[in-house]
Amino acid sequence: MNEEHKKSRWFWPLGLLATGLAGAGLVIFRGCWHSRMSWPVRAQNHSYQVCLGCGIKRLFDEEGFRAYGPYSYDLNKLIAWDRARTGAIQPAAEPETRRTAS
Ligand SMILES: [Zn+2]
Repeated sequence: MNEEHKKSRWFWPLGLLATGLAGAGLVIFRGCWHSRMSWPVRAQNHSYQVCLGCGIKRLFDEEGFRAYGPYSYDLNKLIAWDRARTGAIQPAAEPETRRTAS
């Protein structure tokens, strides 16, 4: 009876933890080296590869035929990163926030 009680005490915290981590994609990301990437896919004037293991994306240079840049599950983030890198679209410079601290 004592052992059964111990099990139920451990089961719930571990279950909740696993659910939370899976939701954040942390387990998948850390357990995958993205060694198997899909054939490049074209979208929004960009090419990218998708990891066959976890589904993370990475931009692909068709001319150099190699992947480059950071990994991200959000393609929009990668495209924004690429635009910032190439300077194709200059983001409006934010004026420095002035601190009124004395
Ligand atoms: Zn992966």
